[in-house]
Amino acid sequence: MSKIKVQQIAVVGAGIAGATCARALTLAGHSVHVFDKSRGPGGRLATRRVEWVDRLGQSHMTRLDHGAVGITARSAPFMAFVDEALRAGGLAEWVPSLAAGSVPAEDGDRFYVPLPDMPSLCRRQLVGAAATWSFAVDGLHKGALGWHAQAGSKVHPEPFDAVVLALPPAQAAALLCPHRRDWARHASIAPMQPCWTLMGIADTTREALEPALDWDLARPPTGPLEWVLRNDARPGRASVSGQAHWVVHARPGWSRRHLEQPAAWVQQQMHAALVDTLGRPVDWHHCAVHRWRYALPQAQKIAAAESFWWDADQGLGVCGDFLGGSGSSGVEGAWLSAQSLSAAMLQSASGAGRASTLSAAHETALRTVRHRAA
Ligand SMILES: Cc1cc2nc3c(=O)[nH]c(=O)nc-3n(C[C@H](O)[C@H](O)[C@H](O)COP(=O)(O)OP(=O)(O)OC[C@H]3O[C@@H](n4cnc5c(N)ncnc54)[C@H](O)[C@@H]3O)c2cc1C
Repeated sequence: MSKIKVQQIAVVGAGIAGATCARALTLAGHSVHVFDKSRGPGGRLATRRVEWVDRLGQSHMTRLDHGAVGITARSAPFMAFVDEALRAGGLAEWVPSLAAGSVPAEDGDRFYVPLPDMPSLCRRQLVGAAATWSFAVDGLHKGALGWHAQAGSKVHPEPFDAVVLALPPAQAAALLCPHRRDWARHASIAPMQPCWTLMGIADTTREALEPALDWDLARPPTGPLEWVLRNDARPGRASVSGQAHWVVHARPGWSRRHLEQPAAWVQQQMHAALVDTLGRPVDWHHCAVHRWRYALPQAQKIAAAESFWWDADQGLGVCGDFLGGSGSSGVEGAWLSAQSLSAAMLQSASGAGRASTLSAAHETALRTVRHRAA
């Protein structure tokens, strides 16, 4: 009977999927080490710290949530997680006032927003796990002692009994290729939508004579922009007199068509579209764009399929929003996928506690678990 000891587990990717998986495995007594290419956790639950100088030469710092707009909850387990985070003060409810003529959201316009910033939801879940930041894993090698993670010329010295990949599919595919070509192929064609995002701080002092905007979220029915939001109107975000903090997301189709355009061109186009939406000029203190190559799974193309992948023989697992869970996508899908993967890993452990083992023969069904979404 082949057995894999699961004591040390590497989780590659510290977005909501990786952080959720790390949390469940840490709570079960395993030793978890998280790797991320960024300087901290969050992934697409992202908040950017912007430093800028006003016309009088004064320095300012503003935080803008330029990734996920908000969290929605449909499934009972995720609702329970959201409720707990609300009670603990880690999430706040955001019911934005919608601009006239906006396209209403499928689930209604009620979101949950992590406090004080978007990555905090992941940061909290990583308590108890070791982490190495700025480590872009580009190779996973299986040696006599277990898995090793490599980033460029650096090989992390600790061997791991199991590895979890919690990455967007294209990035997971590259790492999976030498170990599970079938998964790699599947991940490499998983459809993801791109998103160009504009974020900026506008000076509103000259707008004093204009009628005040009475909304903080717009979803224009046509044109390049899908979401236009006032970041400073979101719960727990700083609001400064004389400033409007805008985050603007382009539609997936528009973003795809202009994916390779220079940032300056994209900024100009999105600025013009924002002016159209607001019906007034925008006077920037600071403005920038960010390209999300893999923003969201293409919802309509996610058939009821696997919500995670787990190969107990190799000690290799995959989770993330592209696998989703119970037909959900986005943050909820990533969370559900990670919960299912960690449950399968723990379920296939023979014997509870720290020095647990995975028994592949004992858990035949979990050798390569392919759970159909309910
Ligand atoms: C603009 C935008 C708007 C969105 N709006 C919403 C919304 O309103 N509601 C919603 O539910 N969802 C929304 N989403 C989607 C949501 O953010 C994601 O579905 C979810 O955060 C994905 O979590 P994840 O953990 O699967 O992946 P990610 O958050 O992408 O985490 C993956 C992590 O892996 C790291 N990584 C990647 N490659 C490597 C590597 N080689 N080595 C080490 N680390 C690596 C990344 O740095 C990242 O931290 C939005 C996304 C974007 C971009």
